[in-house]
Amino acid sequence: MPDVAAYAIDSPTGHYARTTITRRDPGPTEVFFDIHYAGICHSDIHTARGEWGPINYPFVGGHEIAGIVSRVGSEVTKFKVGDRVGVGCFVDSCGECEMCRQGEEQFCTAGPGEGAVWTYNGIGRDGLPTAGGYSTGITVEQDYLMRVPDSVSLEHAAPLMCAGITTYSPLKRWGAGPGKRVGIVGMGGLGHMGVQFAAALGAETIVFGRTLSKRDDGLKLGASDYVSTQDRDAMKALRGTFDLIVTTVSDGTDLDGLLGLLKAHGVLVNVGLPEKPSSLRLGVLTGQAKVLAGSNIGGIAETQEMLDFCAEHGLAPIVEIIPADGIDEAYDNVVASKVRYRYVIDASTI
Ligand SMILES: [Zn+2]
Ligand SMILES: [Zn+2]
Repeated sequence: MPDVAAYAIDSPTGHYARTTITRRDPGPTEVFFDIHYAGICHSDIHTARGEWGPINYPFVGGHEIAGIVSRVGSEVTKFKVGDRVGVGCFVDSCGECEMCRQGEEQFCTAGPGEGAVWTYNGIGRDGLPTAGGYSTGITVEQDYLMRVPDSVSLEHAAPLMCAGITTYSPLKRWGAGPGKRVGIVGMGGLGHMGVQFAAALGAETIVFGRTLSKRDDGLKLGASDYVSTQDRDAMKALRGTFDLIVTTVSDGTDLDGLLGLLKAHGVLVNVGLPEKPSSLRLGVLTGQAKVLAGSNIGGIAETQEMLDFCAEHGLAPIVEIIPADGIDEAYDNVVASKVRYRYVIDASTI
């Protein structure tokens, strides 16, 4: 059983510290890979701090993971030692239910843990709690690994596994492309990928931020305009002009206001996870047959498609590489919206 170094937190108010965890030996169809980089997602923070309910400690976060295969099981056909791979928010599912058959394993209804097995805070095939990517290696079933294209660096690949697919999937599903005007609300870890995807898909892309502090970056990443949601005149001028809006923010979302920006039949997709209930006048939907939708990461095939799309179009997250002993500080900065745009842990410092 491979022992690997990891950073774990031992209580909701604790601090990350170095420890050792044991991964299982790769089974016949499993791969063990050496982790090189792991992104820090806001979900890691909510989970680590018990904000989404009680969890088992010690807890190892990280579901944006990239590295290089170092061991393969005897029946592995998809990967070999030396391959560059990544894993995202889940590491297993039943493979047989309706959702799995449709390639939407994240919505599995029947996997070993009664659904998809999350990369951390889940229960794996071996009956043991799963531990995330803030570590130096992990064992994963080959069907839940993505291949990182040669032109995508591993530190860039890591955040794509969650932040990338979370924004790519709804843009594809709801038809972002030439002739469409697309809005991206929030210019954080998710939004800064959303703007790149929407623009590369050929849509006219406008970013909405609370302030204009990230305007230059938004325009550089492909937006044709960047609008402050506090600028009433600018917001009013854009009413009824969008085909699709993806909102990535977790608090203070003015759903009525965003729906007002849509054309008839326009779609507002929420990928944020607001803690408080939102209110909405349903008449806003009825009046012009608008759609309010949600989206949650994406399946394995679509995540691979997203990585290949990034390679084809030269897209990458903007990352700040940090050492593992900087995780606590990074968490505080993410909560304070100080990160531009994704912290990525260099696993060689674990
Ligand atoms: Zn995430
Ligand atoms: Zn399933």
